[in-house]
Amino acid sequence: MKFADGERVHFIDKKGRHYPLTLCKRKVFQFSGETIPHDDIIGREDGAAVTFSRGSRFVVVRPTLAEHILKMPRGAQVIYPKDVGMILIWGDIYPGAKVVEAGIGSGALTMALLRGVGERGIVISYEIREDFSKVALNNIRSYMGKTDNLILRHSDVYDGIGEEDIDRVILDLPEPWRVAGHAAKALREGGIFLCYLPTTLQVASVVESLKESGVFTHIETIETLLRTWHVEESSVRPDHRMVAHTGFITVARKVRR
Ligand code: SAH
Repeated sequence: MKFADGERVHFIDKKGRHYPLTLCKRKVFQFSGETIPHDDIIGREDGAAVTFSRGSRFVVVRPTLAEHILKMPRGAQVIYPKDVGMILIWGDIYPGAKVVEAGIGSGALTMALLRGVGERGIVISYEIREDFSKVALNNIRSYMGKTDNLILRHSDVYDGIGEEDIDRVILDLPEPWRVAGHAAKALREGGIFLCYLPTTLQVASVVESLKESGVFTHIETIETLLRTWHVEESSVRPDHRMVAHTGFITVARKVRR
């Protein structure tokens, strides 16, 4: 696969550090007193070795989605890869699914949802902040190109969900309990509600609202602790530092009552 104009790439140095770049014909990338023309990257193969003007060597790759999420420009705080992965499986995002998401934020979760639903599915993303959705759309475009399976709605999801017969409602916003009633109407039977929240009081409120709605069962809350490892010849052990907390995932299924 060859790099194209407009595509997002990462330079990786010997220590494994990533430096992101969006390719643009005739531009020159400047880095720590060195340069490389974008035209030297465009047309090269994924994983190519490149040399900057003063001799530093880098590998240039198309980032994985997880790498892209960590380095892309942010409007709102993104959901980190470990939680994005869990959301896909606990929210059971499948090819062809109709998903309502709120809000789009920086587009990190949206990209994973778009991949999950594929070309036959659709992601309808509610967002109240136009400045955030602009950042998100740029992040999505530079990584995925044109996305015909994304619809952006500049509207407040607390006021309602306009769609019906939705397979999954996925929420990353501060007061998801204000969406439980709307989700109860918008979801098909067997549909799944999932929200991502940073604090326990929020979790208690959303679980209460799901119970009150009368249509949700199998309500579960989980969190994911990811521990990375240091693996060198004589020293194989967990890394000293880890991220202790990001957020809780609460999931529920709509059933006929
Ligand atoms: N999941 C996103 C981050 C979302 S941050 C990512 O991974 O990049 C939360 C977003 O919800 C913000 O962009 C905020 O503007 C939006 N938001 C907050 N309340 C909202 C509401 N009532 N309706 C629609 N969007 C809302």
